[in-house]
Amino acid sequence: MLLNITTTHKPATDLGYLMHKHPDKFQSFELSVGEAHVFYPEVSEDKATLSLLLDIDPIEMVRGGRHDNNFALGHYVNDRPYVASSFMSVALAKAFSSAMNGKCKDKPELVEVKLPYEVSISVVPAPRGGEVMIRKFFEPLGYEVDLMRHELDPKFPEWGESKYYTLKLKNVIKTRDLLSHLYVLLPTLDSDKHYFVNKEEIDKLLQKGEGWLKQHPERELIIKRYLLNFNYLAKQAIERISEGETEEVIEELETNEVKEKKESMHEKRLNLTLEKLVASGAERVLDLGCGEGRLLRKLIKNKQFTEIVGMDVSYGELLKAKERLYYDDMSPKQQERIKLFQGSLTYKDARLEGFDAAAVVEVIEHLDLNRLRAFERVLFECAQPKTVVLTTPNKEYNVMWEQLPAEEMRHNDHRFEWTRQEFMDWAQSITEKYQYTVVFLPVGEEVENIGAPSQMAIFTYGN
Ligand code: SAH
Repeated sequence: MLLNITTTHKPATDLGYLMHKHPDKFQSFELSVGEAHVFYPEVSEDKATLSLLLDIDPIEMVRGGRHDNNFALGHYVNDRPYVASSFMSVALAKAFSSAMNGKCKDKPELVEVKLPYEVSISVVPAPRGGEVMIRKFFEPLGYEVDLMRHELDPKFPEWGESKYYTLKLKNVIKTRDLLSHLYVLLPTLDSDKHYFVNKEEIDKLLQKGEGWLKQHPERELIIKRYLLNFNYLAKQAIERISEGETEEVIEELETNEVKEKKESMHEKRLNLTLEKLVASGAERVLDLGCGEGRLLRKLIKNKQFTEIVGMDVSYGELLKAKERLYYDDMSPKQQERIKLFQGSLTYKDARLEGFDAAAVVEVIEHLDLNRLRAFERVLFECAQPKTVVLTTPNKEYNVMWEQLPAEEMRHNDHRFEWTRQEFMDWAQSITEKYQYTVVFLPVGEEVENIGAPSQMAIFTYGN
């Protein structure tokens, strides 16, 4: 992972004084998960480039428990060594602490001078709609933003584009401001929760954000993403930065309201699913892509269901489900009613055969479109439950989520989202290929011309 800072200020060699790094020296710093190296690939009176090279050791990250354990191989195969993340911020703070604090021992007058800077960052991971977000974060601070999005694999163009960008920034700016902007904004683009945030992070954020974050039009989103969407921390940070600007606090409360709305939306969806499963008369039910087991918890409370199976591709989610069901504290009789296992909906699986009903709640949009056909066969041709209750977001409703930037999907991992028509077309094709009939239901309150937030199809076997 490489970050280059170039200036054409005259003399460009001033960069050495400003950054407290001698142009002739190659310097290295220990980080908790690897090393950072600082050197100058180019130095002349006209142009100087300073490089910060991060050498992250993924094994060290595993030892420190710094990677999420949902995906076992993820310990060893992950993007951490190659992308700009919070580690880059740590490295920036360590390598350029004096410059960041606005100190320049030999030429103090340079601190207040705005210099022409160009920054290039080899790889930035961005959430969906990443380009919009990157621009929204940097452009209000005066940066000219140049982005190049990378394909997943140039050998397979049909795989489409990745979430990785090469980012170039240009600005005429004070050195300490440039470094603080990078320190705060680079980790906000990264959605991977691999670092630990606590209250001290608020202090760091507010200190590095001094003089610019308060005025930034996207400050709330920046704060939230910096604090990994931990709302209680973000709320404290927003209160501290707004110091009595009650309007902002109210705005923040509204944002929480949106979150609550989304949550209660999910409750509604699960309750409706439960209602339809009960109405189908099913006794033996599958919850496919059960996640952390929210539906399972509802199913187990209803005596109609004598055998309940939760399947998910993520082992981590299954562990959560087991914990949240208090499985270990259940009586042996209750334990007999419920089974959890790992499996993928895109591979034929005999364990799924012979059930009365299956719930597939907010799962299909996590499958790659080209695997959808495999999923159809696994469920409707091989497992063939009598009833299938399936939900997916209604893409048309996205305009109603204020916080959702244009083009962005509701969840980082969604591979597609469908309009009502697209969903109906797909469901109709299922009835034609397999012997099912289908009815559709809106989930949540319907808006004219837009529909409801989520959509449900109930498939019944036999024509
Ligand atoms: N049904 C749950 C979780 C929805 S999130 C609920 O409504 O609360 C989507 C879930 O689908 C995740 O837990 C994810 O791990 C799972 N998933 C994604 N792809 C899958 C696949 N191919 N097979 C099984 N589960 C999958």
